[in-house]
Amino acid sequence: MPHFDLHCHSTHSDGLLTPSAVVARAAARGVDVLALTDHDEVAGLDEAKAAAAEAGIEVICGAELSVSWDDQTLHVLALGIDPANALLAEGLDAIRAGRATRARRIGEALAAAGIPGAYEGAMRYVTSERLVSRTHFARYLVETGHAREAKDVFKRYLTRGNPGYVPHPWASLAEAVGWIHAAGGQAVIAHPGRYKITASAMRRLLAEFRDLGGDAIEVVSSSHTPAQCAEFATYARAFELAASCGSDWHGPGESWMDFGELPEMPVGVVPVWKGW
Ligand code: AMP
Ligand code: MN
Ligand code: MN
Ligand code: MN
Repeated sequence: MPHFDLHCHSTHSDGLLTPSAVVARAAARGVDVLALTDHDEVAGLDEAKAAAAEAGIEVICGAELSVSWDDQTLHVLALGIDPANALLAEGLDAIRAGRATRARRIGEALAAAGIPGAYEGAMRYVTSERLVSRTHFARYLVETGHAREAKDVFKRYLTRGNPGYVPHPWASLAEAVGWIHAAGGQAVIAHPGRYKITASAMRRLLAEFRDLGGDAIEVVSSSHTPAQCAEFATYARAFELAASCGSDWHGPGESWMDFGELPEMPVGVVPVWKGW
């Protein structure tokens, strides 16, 4: 059975390594099929594909789309897309367009909370002129001693109810699924265990996603406990959605799990790669 890892990031979004270096690391750690899924971006895929040929593994073209649903931000993975598809490219452009303004507002909000210079500081961590993310702020706030590690920055500053939080409208769930399908891909709800929603809201989300033609849930994620992997396998079966697995790797020392460390997919689910 080949080893699949269908979620990771490069310097084209908030990852620390270039697409080639990501592919080389995944290959060295035993991944056979890797999806590069940069946030709202497909620009790293050509390089990843070329590196895959060299490393002797398969790279699946992917992206991780930012979505607003209810009052939540969700992430929807696109797997097996044609990165040249115009509708998807326009959609991703539209999602990315709001990020620069949001970053300025985050900078202003942090300044008002007594942390000046965070916008400029975050920009020093940006590795693609096309995309700035909260991760870049988190790295700067850790560097300047405002928190010990990134997850503390999110807990104390960059999430709802905290001084550096700026609400932002992303794509709708229907738009995201529509663009992904237009580009020939499968739509996957990323790391469902990370959303702070009730069980009934989760069921409403999955029903709506399925009715829109959504394809899968990320059952196995580095951010899921073993109990959550089992829980989302049950959801996948109940909603007749396929199951995906991904490390959500961002960089050495930054991620919950490295390539090659994902647990096995629970039995009794249909893997998202079944028809590949
Ligand atoms: P953005 O798309 O700009 O809102 O940034 C979202 C990114 O922030 C995610 O993709 C993660 O990489 C990172 N992130 C969100 N929450 C956390 C957390 N609790 N700890 C570490 N990184 C996080
Ligand atoms: Mn990220
Ligand atoms: Mn995500
Ligand atoms: Mn991710």
